[in-house]
Amino acid sequence: MFKSFVAIIGFISLSVSLNALPNQYTKIDTIEFGKDKVHTYLHENSGLLVRWIENEDTNTSFTLGVRTPTTDNTGVNHIIEHTVFTGSESFPSSTLFFDANANYPHTYMNASTAADMTVYPFATPYDECYMGLLDVYLDSVFNPQMIYQPHSFYEESFYYDPTTNKYGGVVYNEMKGANSQIGRVIFRNIRENVYEGTHYANDSGGEVEEIPNLTYEHFLETYRTYYYPSNMIAVLYGDIEINKVLNKIDKYVKNYTLATPVNIHVTPELESKKVTATYDTDGEGAYVIKSFVLPRLYDVQSVTDVDLWINTYMMHPQSQFRQNLQSRGIDSLEIFKDSELTHPIYSLIVSQIQSSDVEYVETVLNEEISNLWNIEEQKQHEIDTLEQTKLNILQQDMDKSRGIDISQSIVSDWVHNKDNISYYTLKEYLASLNDINENDIEVLKNAVQVDIILTPDLDEEGITEPVELVFMEEEKWTNILNDMREWQAEYDRKVLEPTNLKKMIIDLGVKDKKYKKDDINFNHYISNTELINTEIYLPTSHIPQSDLNYLFLYSHCLQKASEEITPFEGILKTKIIALENKESYVPYLKIDIISSNDKNQIEILNKANDILASKDDDWYRLQVDKVLGQFYGTFQNDIISTLGTLTKGGQDGSKRYMYEAHYPFYTFCLNCKDESVDFIEQTKQIFDVLGKRDGISIGIVSNEGVAKESIANWQEYFEDKQLEIVENYKYEFDKIDKDSVYYKEGQVDYLLYNYDSKKDYIQAIDYLASAYATKNYLQPEIRIKKGAYGSGMQAVFPNTISIYTYRDPHYKSSIEIIENMPEALEQSDIEQKMRMAKSEALSDFQGQFGLFSSDMKIASILHTLHLMEVDKEYIIKTQKAILDIDSDELKQGLEDINEIITNSQKGICIKK
Ligand SMILES: [Zn+2]
Repeated sequence: MFKSFVAIIGFISLSVSLNALPNQYTKIDTIEFGKDKVHTYLHENSGLLVRWIENEDTNTSFTLGVRTPTTDNTGVNHIIEHTVFTGSESFPSSTLFFDANANYPHTYMNASTAADMTVYPFATPYDECYMGLLDVYLDSVFNPQMIYQPHSFYEESFYYDPTTNKYGGVVYNEMKGANSQIGRVIFRNIRENVYEGTHYANDSGGEVEEIPNLTYEHFLETYRTYYYPSNMIAVLYGDIEINKVLNKIDKYVKNYTLATPVNIHVTPELESKKVTATYDTDGEGAYVIKSFVLPRLYDVQSVTDVDLWINTYMMHPQSQFRQNLQSRGIDSLEIFKDSELTHPIYSLIVSQIQSSDVEYVETVLNEEISNLWNIEEQKQHEIDTLEQTKLNILQQDMDKSRGIDISQSIVSDWVHNKDNISYYTLKEYLASLNDINENDIEVLKNAVQVDIILTPDLDEEGITEPVELVFMEEEKWTNILNDMREWQAEYDRKVLEPTNLKKMIIDLGVKDKKYKKDDINFNHYISNTELINTEIYLPTSHIPQSDLNYLFLYSHCLQKASEEITPFEGILKTKIIALENKESYVPYLKIDIISSNDKNQIEILNKANDILASKDDDWYRLQVDKVLGQFYGTFQNDIISTLGTLTKGGQDGSKRYMYEAHYPFYTFCLNCKDESVDFIEQTKQIFDVLGKRDGISIGIVSNEGVAKESIANWQEYFEDKQLEIVENYKYEFDKIDKDSVYYKEGQVDYLLYNYDSKKDYIQAIDYLASAYATKNYLQPEIRIKKGAYGSGMQAVFPNTISIYTYRDPHYKSSIEIIENMPEALEQSDIEQKMRMAKSEALSDFQGQFGLFSSDMKIASILHTLHLMEVDKEYIIKTQKAILDIDSDELKQGLEDINEIITNSQKGICIKK
């Protein structure tokens, strides 16, 4: 069964060369893993540990990790993470993070707080930006201004404005929004119960009722307790000049002395139990959560064995376990893995069931779990799981966020005292497996089981006013607020060195070849990879308007059917899409298949369609529930994009079509829940009307040889799928001219102005004006002064401009602020402000077009541009044009803001 495990892990210690190393550092070792060399250094005086993953990747990154256990629910570590970026000794700007974000083009910039650590990562392909961001990050973390004044502390945590009777605070509003997400509620419940009595039971983000009680004194004390080099690790990644970087780090840490790092280790009192709790996000259903808490496993391999076994015998859709559950009425089961801490936790989740079914679901789960332990070996399912895992590894190695991923994993290993570099050990172990090890299953069988039943909170009890919860006397707020405003006005100096933006213009760096064979357009994007990715655009304008809902449902069903064979053989995804071109727009069904390049992708598509054809009515009816569930999930988690689609109802062309696939389709699915409504036959018939016709386009990302074979395969596939005479319909949809209002359980608002520029494509000036308005008006007025979590203006290719606020304490006052923008937007000192805005606009443009992402993503963008008849020169030209705009042109561009505000479709999400 299990082949004895051969140690192939490449621990090759290389000879240590000390020649060039700055003398404040000692090199501990170098370990080689394939193309990566991992060097470890120790900064002698301060005890800072530095790891450098050396390779040729130009998307270089930096990640600083700090051990920060969560000792209460005030969100103190989270608030420190925010506040360090509000001005430092060398960069005294109250908006330092956003200044840096605008000034240095980058591929990633963030900071985040978990239960026991805070990380500060960034990635950029430009040396100049790397060194600039390194200074900003290190000066912020080691020399923050917040230790001399409390103003930024109040701005970021919580404040009360007695004159307006409103509450602000960036983290306060962020957490109000975060806690209305069910995923987070589930995670918190698991941690609270399994780690009860330890610091892991606390909420590192901060509980909304507790954040107002954090004092400035406790905040400073916590910063001093955790923020010193011996309690940190710095991870560097990619092709950097190591000595230059090490010397810069030395500048910030040299005055510290050695100290003991914080101990985050806890031993929870594990006991099996059953608890019930309530949630108050949207939804009426109950959740049954069953957590398996494993004993402490010391090596990555043991955890991996359990992981693979669960994927095979509990999560594989064909597994006996899933089949049994299904036959007893439990169709969907999710798994949530929380394995960062010493005791890995696997939780099975059955979502959104009726309260009266809870007991039944629990009984069935328990019975089927007890059947699991003497289940027969399933060779094929084991192979499926291993194939899926290997595909994941290939994908991860292609990913442009590789540097950040590895660095975060190294930080986590260090924080949790795991002594190896688990990212590599895990991969090498997985690559070595031919079979799944069943020996470790005893640990799962004997695991502590914690059952949690979550039901909706039905009490309509009034929320206590925060100011009544706060220890601060009410009359003190006036002074605090005035001082804060004064400080905000004073510290918006320009403190960052301008970067040379001309050097940062880049192109879509993937070569392509085009062929037309048998009336099919093939686009081959050349990439040296072991994967093959294929995008098939099937035009659907010959499907009559009355059948569109069946097309949308078919698209969903095809992907769902494919999930029974994928992701083991490959991943098949479908999407309804509409692309503008010079005259009009074309609607498509897009099918995306990704697999290792030794697979015949036609087989994957054929199998998926065969599975779909074999499904009975019950299955189709179940899919309707799944679509509704998906809508519900997106409504919950991605409110701005939901508002974005809803507001398209009042627009034309491709946008109106995309609206049709959203809300009207949602209503269609609601109707289908009525047993008497017949939709199944019509949905099945969509298969017959899809096929080869004019406008079909296939994009293939792969190496040369593989593409040739694949093109031949697709020609053959479409040979007998030629559609007879094709008539293109012109769809006539009703225009929805009202504002979209969406009510949601929760404590914060969201607001979106969605403007159709009516231009073929938005121009450089649109990107620049948006960046300018964000930086010089929306952020200071709505984020800083009102304490909302975010606000901005964005130009989105091909022809959308939007203005938004999110996790906003009060949307009405934001409307006033936005409507006032044309008058109030500052144009003094425009040259200086324009420079920053150009940098931000360039960054934003490059991010939108994924110019630094994987070949797959870039190829996909090239394919889209080609279908939209957009010259790919647009990419380079627009970047150059952004940099060439002068202040008079910008002033003119800013005048359009009035038109944008007046003629936008508005979408609002308000608390119930
Ligand atoms: Zn935050």
